[in-house]
Amino acid sequence: MDLYEYQGKELFKRFGIPVSEGRLATSPAEARRAGEELGGQVVVKAQVLTGGRGKAGGIKLAESPEEAEERAGEILGLDIRGHVVRKLWIERASEIAKEYYLSVTFDRGEKKPLFMLTTQGGVDIEEVAEQSPDALARLHIDPLAGFQPFQARWLCFAAGITDRGEQKQVIALVAKLYEVFVACDAVLCEVNPLIVTPEGEVRVLDSKFTVDDNALYRHPEVAEMRDLDAYPAEERAAREKGVTYVKLDGEVGILGNGAGLVMSTLDVVAQAGGRAANFCDLGGGGDAEGVVDALEVITADPQVRSILFNIFGGITRGDEVARGILEALGRMEIRQPIVVRLDGTNAEEGRRMLAEAAPANLHVEETMLSAAERAVELAGSAA
Ligand code: GDP
Ligand code: MN
Repeated sequence: MDLYEYQGKELFKRFGIPVSEGRLATSPAEARRAGEELGGQVVVKAQVLTGGRGKAGGIKLAESPEEAEERAGEILGLDIRGHVVRKLWIERASEIAKEYYLSVTFDRGEKKPLFMLTTQGGVDIEEVAEQSPDALARLHIDPLAGFQPFQARWLCFAAGITDRGEQKQVIALVAKLYEVFVACDAVLCEVNPLIVTPEGEVRVLDSKFTVDDNALYRHPEVAEMRDLDAYPAEERAAREKGVTYVKLDGEVGILGNGAGLVMSTLDVVAQAGGRAANFCDLGGGGDAEGVVDALEVITADPQVRSILFNIFGGITRGDEVARGILEALGRMEIRQPIVVRLDGTNAEEGRRMLAEAAPANLHVEETMLSAAERAVELAGSAA
């Protein structure tokens, strides 16, 4: 889960990492109030879950509360690489003498957290890594031995930070960054730029913070930071219902049980000349409740023109799935045609139930390929 800049900074602050004081705003009027409260020059920053906001016009300095209001009006609603700006972070502006880069992330190859530090910050780090790889100091931390203070000193020297005052602050900051990284089960904490003010003060100016989704249950306060409005309706529904859902860009909605079967269903739909709009994995379940939940999620996607159920009964029983489908159809109105392929445990019983109930718009097919062909055909005629 990616956090907004202001959320990452909030976590940094809790661990004693120096950040600038700021306020959240969702309207120009609020931005003005924030400017009044903070006083002096402020920076108005678009809060979107993507980088490169500065270049896209999403970050602007303002000399007064009136100007903050004006800049906010310009930035709100802006589309930055497909992300519409609905929130602003108004921060007391910093004077910048130097821009550094500092991050800690996982190096999966080494199976260790990796720190990177360079005095050539502010720009794309990929560029630095490519053009002057020697300028990028890298340091792995052994997760069992833990972080040792001498490592931060080494990193600082390797990056060529020579000023004593800066060294002291950066060393302390590296230690705290590792603390927050571990404590939050983060997979990325990136600060670009890490600035040095003309007075020699080191401070975090930007934050990119990603927390391991699988660890969110251990961090309810971080999980709560998720901005549901930033997700499409069906993704929100999937999350709430605990349904495994992946959005794709075709027109056939796919519902299967088990990751392997769902993957091969995607292939068969492609073989039939169609494209999947999305897929839901019912997992080992497939009871009525699970089917209703998954159908609600799938049909909330406006791109879906037909729905393909591909169920192989193992632990999941075909009759149970059939009951789920019929119950779902009784409870909700589904505009799109549904094609069902049932096989495995109690599949015959399931197919018989569907044939007897014979709901309109429901088609039962014997094989996976014929089901996919039917679904693709129906998606085409529904278009
Ligand atoms: P990004 O473009 O999404 O990475 O957003 P950043 O938060 O990194 O801001 C982009 C650039 O805006 C920074 O590299 C700075 O040069 C500039 N900037 C951001 N905040 C301030 C500030 O408080 N004062 C000044 N002078 N410049 C700032
Ligand atoms: Mn940045």
